[in-house]
Amino acid sequence: MRLIVSSIPENGLQQEMELPIALEDDACTNNAHVFIKVLRFGRRVLVEGSVKMSAALVCSRCLKKFSYPLNVSFKEEYVPAGEISEEGEHELTNKELDLGFYSNDEIYVEDLIREQLLLSSPMKPLCSSDCQGICPICGKDLTEGSCECKEEEIDERLIPLKKFKEQFSNKE
Ligand SMILES: [Zn+2]
Ligand SMILES: [Zn+2]
Repeated sequence: MRLIVSSIPENGLQQEMELPIALEDDACTNNAHVFIKVLRFGRRVLVEGSVKMSAALVCSRCLKKFSYPLNVSFKEEYVPAGEISEEGEHELTNKELDLGFYSNDEIYVEDLIREQLLLSSPMKPLCSSDCQGICPICGKDLTEGSCECKEEEIDERLIPLKKFKEQFSNKE
Protein backbone atom coordinates (compact mmCIF):
# COMPACT_ATOMS: atom_id res chain seq x y z
CA MET A 1 0.00 0.00 0.00
CA ARG A 2 1.27 3.42 -1.01
CA LEU A 3 0.37 6.70 0.63
CA ILE A 4 0.50 9.71 -1.65
CA VAL A 5 1.43 12.47 0.76
CA SER A 6 -0.11 15.39 -1.11
CA SER A 7 -3.43 13.60 -1.34
CA ILE A 8 -3.79 12.83 2.37
CA PRO A 9 -6.89 14.81 3.38
CA GLU A 10 -6.71 17.69 5.87
CA ASN A 11 -8.52 15.74 8.55
CA GLY A 12 -6.37 12.67 8.02
CA LEU A 13 -7.39 9.18 7.11
CA GLN A 14 -7.64 5.84 8.77
CA GLN A 15 -7.67 2.40 7.34
CA GLU A 16 -7.84 -1.21 8.41
CA MET A 17 -6.51 -3.86 6.04
CA GLU A 18 -4.79 -7.15 5.46
CA LEU A 19 -1.33 -6.73 4.00
CA PRO A 20 0.83 -9.60 2.75
CA ILE A 21 4.26 -9.17 4.36
CA ALA A 22 7.44 -11.21 3.91
CA LEU A 23 9.58 -10.57 6.97
CA GLU A 24 12.80 -11.62 5.27
CA ASP A 25 13.68 -11.86 1.61
CA ASP A 26 13.40 -15.62 1.44
CA ALA A 27 10.53 -16.00 3.88
CA CYS A 28 7.02 -16.81 2.74
CA THR A 29 4.51 -14.00 2.96
CA ASN A 30 2.04 -13.90 5.80
CA ASN A 31 -0.99 -11.70 6.08
CA ALA A 32 -0.63 -8.94 8.61
CA HIS A 33 -3.70 -7.29 10.03
CA VAL A 34 -2.94 -3.58 9.96
CA PHE A 35 -4.71 -0.59 11.37
CA ILE A 36 -3.30 2.85 10.54
CA LYS A 37 -4.20 6.42 11.23
CA VAL A 38 -2.50 9.03 9.08
CA LEU A 39 -2.28 12.73 9.80
CA ARG A 40 -0.58 15.33 7.68
CA PHE A 41 0.87 18.66 8.79
CA GLY A 42 2.07 20.32 5.63
CA ARG A 43 4.73 17.96 4.36
CA ARG A 44 5.16 16.18 7.67
CA VAL A 45 3.19 13.02 8.09
CA LEU A 46 2.35 11.16 11.27
CA VAL A 47 1.50 7.50 10.87
CA GLU A 48 0.32 5.60 13.90
CA GLY A 49 -1.34 2.28 14.26
CA SER A 50 -0.97 -1.34 15.13
CA VAL A 51 -0.22 -4.59 13.38
CA LYS A 52 -0.93 -8.19 14.26
CA MET A 53 0.68 -11.09 12.50
CA SER A 54 1.45 -14.71 13.05
CA ALA A 55 5.05 -14.81 11.83
CA ALA A 56 6.72 -17.97 10.57
CA LEU A 57 10.06 -18.04 12.38
CA VAL A 58 12.83 -20.62 12.35
CA CYS A 59 13.93 -21.90 15.75
CA SER A 60 17.57 -20.97 16.34
CA ARG A 61 18.20 -24.27 18.18
CA CYS A 62 16.37 -26.98 16.27
CA LEU A 63 15.85 -25.10 12.96
CA LYS A 64 12.17 -26.03 12.83
CA LYS A 65 9.61 -23.54 11.61
CA PHE A 66 7.07 -22.39 14.11
CA SER A 67 4.55 -19.60 14.25
CA TYR A 68 5.08 -16.70 16.57
CA PRO A 69 2.39 -14.10 17.30
CA LEU A 70 3.56 -10.52 16.81
CA ASN A 71 1.50 -7.64 18.08
CA VAL A 72 3.02 -4.21 17.60
CA SER A 73 1.89 -0.63 18.10
CA PHE A 74 3.82 2.10 16.38
CA LYS A 75 3.97 5.81 15.85
CA GLU A 76 6.20 7.14 13.14
CA GLU A 77 6.73 10.59 11.79
CA TYR A 78 7.77 11.10 8.19
CA VAL A 79 9.48 14.06 6.66
CA PRO A 80 10.63 14.52 3.07
CA ALA A 81 14.15 13.10 2.60
CA GLY A 82 16.84 15.76 2.83
CA GLU A 83 14.50 18.44 4.16
CA ILE A 84 14.85 18.56 7.91
CA SER A 85 14.31 22.13 8.90
CA GLU A 86 15.71 23.55 12.12
CA GLU A 87 12.23 24.13 13.31
CA GLY A 88 11.57 20.42 12.82
CA GLU A 89 14.51 19.33 14.93
CA HIS A 90 12.88 20.62 18.08
CA GLU A 91 10.04 18.25 17.67
CA LEU A 92 12.43 15.36 17.06
CA THR A 93 13.41 15.47 20.72
CA ASN A 94 10.15 13.71 21.36
CA LYS A 95 11.49 10.21 21.98
CA GLU A 96 8.11 8.59 21.56
CA LEU A 97 8.32 9.19 17.88
CA ASP A 98 10.37 7.36 15.29
CA LEU A 99 11.46 9.40 12.34
CA GLY A 100 11.21 8.17 8.79
CA PHE A 101 11.86 9.76 5.43
CA TYR A 102 9.92 9.72 2.24
CA SER A 103 10.70 10.80 -1.27
CA ASN A 104 8.66 11.37 -4.44
CA ASP A 105 5.59 12.19 -2.36
CA GLU A 106 5.15 8.50 -1.45
CA ILE A 107 5.24 6.46 1.73
CA TYR A 108 5.26 2.68 1.44
CA VAL A 109 3.19 1.27 4.25
CA GLU A 110 4.59 -2.26 3.73
CA ASP A 111 8.11 -1.00 4.48
CA LEU A 112 6.98 0.62 7.70
CA ILE A 113 5.05 -2.48 8.78
CA ARG A 114 7.92 -4.85 7.93
CA GLU A 115 10.36 -2.70 9.90
CA GLN A 116 8.05 -2.61 12.93
CA LEU A 117 7.56 -6.39 12.84
CA LEU A 118 11.29 -7.05 12.50
CA LEU A 119 12.04 -4.75 15.43
CA SER A 120 9.77 -6.75 17.69
CA SER A 121 10.85 -10.20 16.46
CA PRO A 122 13.17 -12.11 18.77
CA MET A 123 16.87 -12.08 17.80
CA LYS A 124 17.22 -15.78 18.59
CA PRO A 125 13.78 -17.30 18.12
CA LEU A 126 13.02 -20.45 20.11
CA CYS A 127 10.13 -22.79 19.28
CA SER A 128 9.80 -23.39 23.01
CA SER A 129 11.86 -22.32 26.00
CA ASP A 130 12.91 -25.91 26.66
CA CYS A 131 13.88 -26.74 23.08
CA GLN A 132 17.00 -28.93 23.28
CA GLY A 133 18.09 -28.31 19.71
CA ILE A 134 19.56 -30.91 17.41
CA CYS A 135 22.64 -33.11 17.79
CA PRO A 136 25.48 -31.57 15.73
CA ILE A 137 26.74 -35.07 14.82
CA CYS A 138 23.67 -37.13 13.87
CA GLY A 139 21.09 -34.33 13.51
CA LYS A 140 18.57 -35.94 15.87
CA ASP A 141 16.00 -33.66 17.48
CA LEU A 142 17.13 -33.83 21.11
CA THR A 143 13.78 -32.60 22.43
CA GLU A 144 12.32 -35.94 21.33
CA GLY A 145 15.03 -37.90 23.10
CA SER A 146 18.78 -38.12 23.42
CA CYS A 147 21.07 -39.87 20.97
CA GLU A 148 24.18 -41.95 21.55
CA CYS A 149 26.65 -39.53 20.02
CA LYS A 150 28.10 -38.15 23.24
CA GLU A 151 29.26 -41.52 24.49
CA GLU A 152 31.05 -42.60 21.36
CA GLU A 153 32.64 -39.39 20.19
CA ILE A 154 35.01 -40.24 17.39
CA ASP A 155 38.60 -39.16 17.90
CA GLU A 156 39.37 -37.53 14.57
CA ARG A 157 43.10 -38.15 14.92
CA LEU A 158 42.47 -41.86 14.68
CA ILE A 159 40.57 -41.72 11.38
CA PRO A 160 43.64 -41.64 9.04
CA LEU A 161 45.19 -44.53 10.93
CA LYS A 162 42.01 -46.54 10.63
CA LYS A 163 41.88 -45.92 6.87
CA PHE A 164 45.52 -46.88 6.51
CA LYS A 165 44.90 -50.14 8.29
CA GLU A 166 41.91 -50.86 6.06
CA GLN A 167 43.93 -50.25 2.90
CA PHE A 168 46.72 -52.41 4.21
CA SER A 169 44.46 -55.31 4.96
CA ASN A 170 42.81 -55.02 1.52
CA LYS A 171 46.16 -55.50 -0.20
CA GLU A 172 46.87 -58.73 1.61
ZN1 LIG B 1 13.36 -25.54 18.60
ZN1 LIG C 1 23.60 -37.55 17.83
